[in-house]
Amino acid sequence: MERTQIHSTIDWAKPGRQDGHLFIPYSYNLAGWANLMVPVTLLANCGERGPTALVLAGNHGDEYPGQVAILRLCRELKLDQMLGRVILIPCLTIPGSKAMTRLSPLDGKNFNRCFPGKADGTVSEMLAHYLATVLFPLADIVIDIHTGGRSLDFVPCAHMHLVADAVQCRQMAAGTEAWNSDFAFLYTDIAGTGLLPVEAERQGKIVITTEMGGGEVVHPSVHRLTQSGLRNVLVHFNVIRGEKVPRSKPARWVQALDRDDYRFAPESGIYESLVDLGADVGTGQKVGAIHFLERPDREPIYVHALTAGALIGSRAPSVVVQGDCVACIAHDVDLDLRDA
Ligand SMILES: [Zn+2]
Repeated sequence: MERTQIHSTIDWAKPGRQDGHLFIPYSYNLAGWANLMVPVTLLANCGERGPTALVLAGNHGDEYPGQVAILRLCRELKLDQMLGRVILIPCLTIPGSKAMTRLSPLDGKNFNRCFPGKADGTVSEMLAHYLATVLFPLADIVIDIHTGGRSLDFVPCAHMHLVADAVQCRQMAAGTEAWNSDFAFLYTDIAGTGLLPVEAERQGKIVITTEMGGGEVVHPSVHRLTQSGLRNVLVHFNVIRGEKVPRSKPARWVQALDRDDYRFAPESGIYESLVDLGADVGTGQKVGAIHFLERPDREPIYVHALTAGALIGSRAPSVVVQGDCVACIAHDVDLDLRDA
C-alpha cells in the first residue's frame, strides 16, 4: 500500500488533549507549495483506555449541523470526561463548507465516493486514503454525520446499512437507537460506490450515520438533536462519561432498500411537494408534481409512491433536473436488532 502524503501534527498514540491539523498537499496558481489544513482534535483518557470513536462531519460541505455539533464538542469536552478516546474532525470538506457546496471546489469530488482513496490522488482522494489506512484502524466506532444538504430535506434520523455480520449489525443498531431520533432508518446505496461508511463497515467498525434534516434552513430542534444524539451515542459506547438518556418511546424502524423506494424526477421543471415530510403515504399516492414554467397549458407530471410507507426524504430546491431524487419512501420493518 502506498504511503500517505498527508502530514499530521497529532501523535495518535499519546494520551491527553491535542489540537492539530492534517496537512494535505496541493497547489494552485498562486501557491505551488500549499497545504489544505484540516483541523483535528484528539482527547484520550490517560489511564486504562476505553473504546475509540472517530467523529466526522462535513463529508459533504453543505451539511452543517454535524459540523456545529463537533465544533461544540471540541470546545466542551474535558479530559476528565473521557473513558476512551475521541478523534474529532468537524469538517472533512472544508472548501465545500465555505462555498456551500456538496462537492469539493478544489477537485470537484464527492468525498463520499472517494473510498478507499488514493495516496497520490486529489485532495479528497488523499484524505479518504488517510482515513481508510490510518484513522479507521485506530477506531472502534466511526460516526459520520450527514444531512440532506441543500438537495434533500430529511426527517432527522440516525441511519445505517444492514451489514452481514450479526454482532456488528446489532451494535450498529443499538448505536443508531442511542441517537434518540424518532425514526431509525435502514438505507441502501442508490447512487454509486466508494462510500465512507461502506469502507469503515468493511473494516469491521461500528458505523453510525445520520441524516439530520436538510435544505438550506437548519431549525434549532435539528441542532439540538444532532448535539444530544452525538453525546448520547458516545456515552452509550463508553467513550465519554455521562448518563445515557433513554428514549421516551421506541424508535420507529423503517427501511428503504429497494430502488423503487427512491423516486426520481422524470422531467426537469418546478417541483411541488404534495406530502409533508414524515407523513405516511399509500401505494400509488401522488407525492409531488413537476410544473413547466414555459408551458402553462401543460398539465403537471406527477411523482407517485410505488409502495406504502413514510416520506422520509423530499426534494429541497424547487427547481429539479430530470433524474434528481425527489422522494424517499421508507417502510416499517419488524427486524428486531435491538438486543445488542
Ligand atoms: Zn451527506
